[in-house]
Amino acid sequence: MENATFELTSELTEAELTRVSAQFESAAPETILEWALEEFGQDVALATGFGAEGCVLVHMLAQITPKARMFYLDTGLLFPETYELKAKLEARYGVQIERRASRLSVDAQARIHGDRLWEREPNRCCQLRKIEPLVETLSDLRAWVTAIRRDQSVTRASSPIVSFDSKFDLIKINPLATWNSQDVWRFIFKHKIPYNPLHDQQYPSIGCTPCTTPVQIGEHSRAGRWRGTEKTECGLHR
Ligand code: SF4
Repeated sequence: MENATFELTSELTEAELTRVSAQFESAAPETILEWALEEFGQDVALATGFGAEGCVLVHMLAQITPKARMFYLDTGLLFPETYELKAKLEARYGVQIERRASRLSVDAQARIHGDRLWEREPNRCCQLRKIEPLVETLSDLRAWVTAIRRDQSVTRASSPIVSFDSKFDLIKINPLATWNSQDVWRFIFKHKIPYNPLHDQQYPSIGCTPCTTPVQIGEHSRAGRWRGTEKTECGLHR
């Protein structure tokens, strides 16, 4: 990457974003993150669900500055291992990963919408427990960083590195878009980055406890999410 400095303004056009994104196609994720922090400072934040990719990005951001903003969506239904991993990452890197959550507790949701909403209406459940707190969090930001990779699913295959996220009305940055799973795990082992031990128990993709199952050999890495339904995404990413 010859020149990682771009003049961004609030009037950035789609064409300019496309140009910036194209220039980052061959850039290291760390270069993209440095640019993001330089351009947006405290107005950019990493959203992580503590998957392997998210752990990589926490590591990379912390090397640039432990003051980089990071947050997670606490649905109240995450695996105990996920909460433990959050604490481990914060201790190892001296970062703070902000907790964002629905105003409705799981019990309150059950009282209002009925018990085990995720079984009857998973989209509604994701809307309440993930999307609404995400919208609130993103409304204070100018850009967000996500951990998505193009090879994770068909719906993510054409994700740009930098683009305008019209769903949430801010710039979206995917520094690991061009990486594959081997790149992620090579980086994790090289830098001894903490990761969720469930990954070693056939959970390549980890979400909420009621909606995540282990995968069998030969299954797609996201096959364990919302198994038995047609749902493949929580709605955070188009
Ligand atoms: Fe609800 Fe499942 Fe979505 Fe979690 S992943 S918010 S439990 S539907």
